[in-house]
Amino acid sequence: MTEPRPVTPDTASPRFGRFFLPGPTEVRPEVLDAMRRPVIGHRGSELSAILREIDPVLRSVFRTTRPVYVATASATLLMEAAVRNGVRRRALGLVNGAFSGRFRDLVSDCGREVETYEVEWGQAHDPAEVKRRLCRGGFDAVTVVHSETSTGVLNPLAEIAEAVRAAETATGEEILLLVDGVTSVGGMRVEAEAWALDFLLTGSQKALALPPGLAFATASERMLRRAESIAGRGQYLDLLEYERYWQRHQTPTTPAVHLIFALAEQMKRIEAEGGIESRAERHWRMAEQCWAWTENVAAARGFSLLAPHGRRSPTVTALTVPDWTSPADVVTRLGERGYSVGPGYGKLKDSTIRIGHMGDHTPEGLAALLTELERITRG
Ligand SMILES: *Cc1c(COP(=O)(O)O)cnc(C)c1O
Repeated sequence: MTEPRPVTPDTASPRFGRFFLPGPTEVRPEVLDAMRRPVIGHRGSELSAILREIDPVLRSVFRTTRPVYVATASATLLMEAAVRNGVRRRALGLVNGAFSGRFRDLVSDCGREVETYEVEWGQAHDPAEVKRRLCRGGFDAVTVVHSETSTGVLNPLAEIAEAVRAAETATGEEILLLVDGVTSVGGMRVEAEAWALDFLLTGSQKALALPPGLAFATASERMLRRAESIAGRGQYLDLLEYERYWQRHQTPTTPAVHLIFALAEQMKRIEAEGGIESRAERHWRMAEQCWAWTENVAAARGFSLLAPHGRRSPTVTALTVPDWTSPADVVTRLGERGYSVGPGYGKLKDSTIRIGHMGDHTPEGLAALLTELERITRG
């Protein structure tokens, strides 16, 4: 494999830097080029060597010493795996947007009971309320989305994790914390081990800036013990299988080997940038740039940030669009200028647009997008 090229402003890839959907995100041409290789077998030493090499980088991204499993799937598969392996009978589902709603629904779709703790779309959950509900007893798991991509809200995950632990102590029940980190992992520091998250998952096509098709997760020891005690886990979603094959740097079934070639290239690039710390810093810079622009420039034309101060995601910003225009119009006009941003999602479709400032985007590239957006906000 070739040496990684350092991540530099968009002069490195002149074609890069115009696609700001909050997933899938834009992929560097160098990462796409890494897939131009012949097929290899998935039980041979070559693929195992690649998986062994990327393993420490993946674990540094997840901030854990536990294995990080590589699945050929979109992220939803691992949300379902979280439920099938981690919810025994009844979960508390934290809902504040479309993806957290999906996670909650998966619990009942998999035949388990779920109580919903819902807050308004655009708001974050209150850890004290999480604890209060869990202390009523009868829960064995919690589902939560860290960065709610439909609203741009960042949940206070460390505090929610503490609340869950406190409820465990108070009730004497084992309550697993199952976390969708699809737009947080790879874009900020998410402490799988320090925050004692039982399951943390992400997909390839968001903050990791890979093509769609892979998903990643890490599971605590007690999550695996829980899985062992649950019958009917099936095969494709069985975490014990992923754990077993991980020991020999393989995957349970035929993986998308070309996406793994791209992953290997991207892991080198993440290291070359200075690891997850530098990556996180770049994401916070872009987010702050986006918030400041909204407040200082676009607010005068009626645009506003949906998420409240202190609860905004570093990877995605949802802007409420004023009545004099519409999300569809803003998206179309930006498209005419060669830029893509996301329309609103779910019930926010007709009132918001979403800017995905994540993955391999740069502050310079984002500034160029905001300049175009400024022209449009002038009417
Ligand atoms: C995109 C997204 C998902 C779903 O991912 P798929 O890869 O389409 O299955 C789940 N949760 C969040 C927070 C997301 O942003």
